[in-house]
Amino acid sequence: MTDDALARALRTIPDFPKPGIQFKDITPILADADLLREAVARLLEPFRGVGITHVAGIEARGFMLGGLMAHELGAGFVPVRKKGKLPWQVYRAEYALEYGTDAIEAHRDSFGPGHRVLVHDDVIATGGTARAAADIVAQTGAEVAGFSFLIELGFLGGRAALDAAVPIHSVLTF
Ligand code: AMP
Repeated sequence: MTDDALARALRTIPDFPKPGIQFKDITPILADADLLREAVARLLEPFRGVGITHVAGIEARGFMLGGLMAHELGAGFVPVRKKGKLPWQVYRAEYALEYGTDAIEAHRDSFGPGHRVLVHDDVIATGGTARAAADIVAQTGAEVAGFSFLIELGFLGGRAALDAAVPIHSVLTF
């Protein structure tokens, strides 16, 4: 992976936001026009021509590339937000934190039966957040057609939390 320009640009910050976390900072990729284009292209590689109708991007870093992915596919973009942020009626799903739980939400009328949704976030770690996003999609009656992450922290085993029947794509795996 050393010859991978995206991997070289990615910045790992030790002990942020708390001790023991190796934070994967994607802002150097976002700020470089060529790398930004490459990141979007590689996130979409397995998902062109498969009828994606919406990209669901998870707050907050899933909004940045997710919006570009949706535009590139000619799909809609749906923000999946932390609880209490969206103004209209929502579906909600909880996920585990180190201590306790948190919840994410999407508007009830974002998508529904017949829609094929690509769930996107910058990083999959334990998989709890992406799984909660998939739960929300299922509540609307839409189908999760795939997951696409820029970075997978493979040693945390997050993909095991996701539906094994749905394609899971990660551009960079650590
Ligand atoms: P998880 O639910 O454990 O898969 O965590 C994924 C969510 O937490 C994503 O929204 C990521 O943006 C964020 N996250 C988890 N670990 C990291 C990390 N090492 N660097 C950057 N973001 C992370």
